[in-house]
Amino acid sequence: MIFNVEKETLPRDELAALQLTRLKNQCERVYANVPFYRKAFDEIGVTPAQISSLADLPRLPFTEKQDLRDGYPYQMFAVPKDTIVRLHASSGTTGKATVVGHTQRDLDNWAEMMARSLAAAGLTSLDLIHNAFGYGLFTGGLGVHCGAERLGATVIPVSGGGTKRQVDLLRDFGATALTCTPSYALYLYDAAREAGVDIRELPLRVGVFGAEPWTDEMRADIERKLGISAVNVYGLSEVMGPGVAQECAVAKCGMHLYEDHFLPEIIDPVTGDVLPPGAVGELVLTTLTKEAVPLIRYRTRDLTSLDYTPCACGRTHVRITRILGRSDDMLIIRGVNVFPQQIEAILIDMEGISPHYEIEVSKAGNLDNLEIKVEFSEAMFVSDEVRHIQNREQRLQKAIKDYLGVTAKVRLVEPQSLRRFEGKSSRVRDLREKK
Ligand code: ADP
Ligand code: ZN
Repeated sequence: MIFNVEKETLPRDELAALQLTRLKNQCERVYANVPFYRKAFDEIGVTPAQISSLADLPRLPFTEKQDLRDGYPYQMFAVPKDTIVRLHASSGTTGKATVVGHTQRDLDNWAEMMARSLAAAGLTSLDLIHNAFGYGLFTGGLGVHCGAERLGATVIPVSGGGTKRQVDLLRDFGATALTCTPSYALYLYDAAREAGVDIRELPLRVGVFGAEPWTDEMRADIERKLGISAVNVYGLSEVMGPGVAQECAVAKCGMHLYEDHFLPEIIDPVTGDVLPPGAVGELVLTTLTKEAVPLIRYRTRDLTSLDYTPCACGRTHVRITRILGRSDDMLIIRGVNVFPQQIEAILIDMEGISPHYEIEVSKAGNLDNLEIKVEFSEAMFVSDEVRHIQNREQRLQKAIKDYLGVTAKVRLVEPQSLRRFEGKSSRVRDLREKK
């Protein structure tokens, strides 16, 4: 079902016209109300009045995460404080957290976009949504919550943690949808098994997962284990929260980005040049309707590409492809660029291996050392196959060398021995000294 048929299927020329009007308006507002932007526009000699087409966008200054940190807590706000009705902060995965405010209209727009997302995932007002995204300053919990209410569904505000109890609730309440990080979905699966509950036999049928990078291989694994259809949701607190982009259940091929509210670009993260559709680079977002903290050309550091080809679901909004990783997550191992997700895809593809892994990079003399710990599956643990551990380790090492061109030491470890995550997973430990 399409939640907002008018906006989500707007012909692209009408969408562009709407974007231009809104872009001009946002530029006027930030120039008038946010000293940071007035200075940034003045420095490059651009005035909001000079924006006459969407093609003028690359003339505008970027906003970096550091700018938000420097403006901590309220300097990027474009409205008087008494119109702010809620504050949130980013999780601080990569450093000091940033603070964002929302006006009532911002919250209304957010709820609508999140409702669109849940509908695109295949949910309706008849669904019961077990929301295990963390509630609090983190945007995941409340973001999904308000979207679920807007859709008219029933939301169960479980939040993160208390995994054993979550299994009971899933079983007793009969939720039809689960929202959380993909790593937590797997954690729940493990906990359910331990409690003798087979999630596949419960009414659960849809999972909306996001807030961290994951792979198609991980999706297949989750869908099989939980017996559900799993789709990807993207968002970031600086720009809004969950519901900036959403994969549709019809095509499951990239996430529609709500272009009536956000203007996307892909840039080369090193030169800052805008790249053509299809090229992989850093996603840059300009908010078109944000009142409290509007952002011009915000560098998300998330790596993806734009797909403007028509989608089978009928939505006209561009799709961003699965997030490859954050530019700051990229590991350089002996000169080779490696993303943790590439390693994940290889691990999950191998039989007898569980999707739980940890990557550690250290330095031995001048050389980078890559060590990957991965749990073998329970099934392998109980069978004689354990004797073949060494053989598996070698096969994994070879696959990593063949696909990624780096040498890694792979160690298979016992089931349940690695850390589990209730929210965003943190699987990489880089022990090398940062420059
Ligand atoms: P933090 O940057 O501190 O983690 P947020 O809590 O706002 O801040 O999380 C937003 C970030 O989470 C995004 O910039 C992106 O890196 C990651 N993220 C969110 N959704 C997805 C997704 N579906 N796939 C991959 N990464 C995602
Ligand atoms: Zn679609």
